[in-house]
Amino acid sequence: MTDLLSMSIDELETFIVSLDEPKYRANQIYRHLMLGKTVDEMQNIPKLLKEKLKATAVVNTVKLGKRLVSSDGTKKFLFSLYDGQMIESVLMKYERGYTVCISTEAGCAMGCAFCASTLGGLARRLLPSEMLSQVIFAQNEAGEKLSGIVLMGIGEPLDNYNNVIKFLHLVGDEQGLNIGYRHISLSTCGLADKIYALAEEDLPITLSISLHAADDETRSALMPINKRYNIETLLTACRDYFNKTKRRISFEYTLASGKNDTEQNARKLCAVLKKYCPDMPLHVNLIPTNATGRGFSPSDKASVYRFAKTLNDSHITATVRRHLGGDIDASCGQLRAGSSTHKN
Ligand code: SAH
Repeated sequence: MTDLLSMSIDELETFIVSLDEPKYRANQIYRHLMLGKTVDEMQNIPKLLKEKLKATAVVNTVKLGKRLVSSDGTKKFLFSLYDGQMIESVLMKYERGYTVCISTEAGCAMGCAFCASTLGGLARRLLPSEMLSQVIFAQNEAGEKLSGIVLMGIGEPLDNYNNVIKFLHLVGDEQGLNIGYRHISLSTCGLADKIYALAEEDLPITLSISLHAADDETRSALMPINKRYNIETLLTACRDYFNKTKRRISFEYTLASGKNDTEQNARKLCAVLKKYCPDMPLHVNLIPTNATGRGFSPSDKASVYRFAKTLNDSHITATVRRHLGGDIDASCGQLRAGSSTHKN
């Protein structure tokens, strides 16, 4: 069956023409799809065309399983996919508008020691339609155009490279949802080879790197991917990405008590960033670790403050991420891991 939501407008036109229908129908159908409509709900489409569509194609949308609303307004959705896999999205409200955090895979193969999403490994990669559908659902829920998208939910986006690139083209399409690439962030645990590929795509998104440690021994213990692409390889890829795209990279650093949060760790972080990325404006997002029952606990306020100060004193901008949705397990993977219906 043809996956309508994974198609660009050009591909949809070709498909509609192949059904012996006029090309302009593709535009009408595309508009309905971007509003989250099913084939039956497409009002200005003739019955015969609807029958043809239903016989040959699917609208592969996510289905809401659970909606949790935090006291701060953050909403978290647990969705099921066509094959029963479960994923999550989080809708956050900021002053500038709504941002949705979407999943790119069901489960994750990366094995980070502190992360709930990787428990049970990778079930499968998401289709472009399944990523787009999370955005459409969130936009309908928000009731207004989203101001941003972050690819920071379950999964490693660069491990699902082709589908993620296709999704980015779809979501940025001016005739479709038209979300500006500058308002889209992609977060990776550090697949250096794919960072080089991404630099060639000419997509002015913001790249975030989950660094979380500044020496290879600590990072390899937290993030197995570091054994394949160590800090030098990763930060060299970041430097080359910046030189090619001129797009600033932001670094994520989760502060886990007693694991990576000493002043010495902070000084080492300053040193490696300046060594490998000397020409890049440096920005580090500090995130106190969410306890996910894996033996990690958040650093205390004093350690977070000391860490941020060491970076700022060294002229590296450090911000401490505002914690949204703490009362609804809003960090990625927690809801899926706790759901009795998830399959791997
Ligand atoms: N795989 C991608 C994107 C998904 S995770 C990546 O690794 O970047 C989004 C962010 O949440 C990453 O920075 C990840 O390291 C972080 N994260 C995962 N579990 C966490 C936890 N328990 N506490 C704080 N941050 C966590």
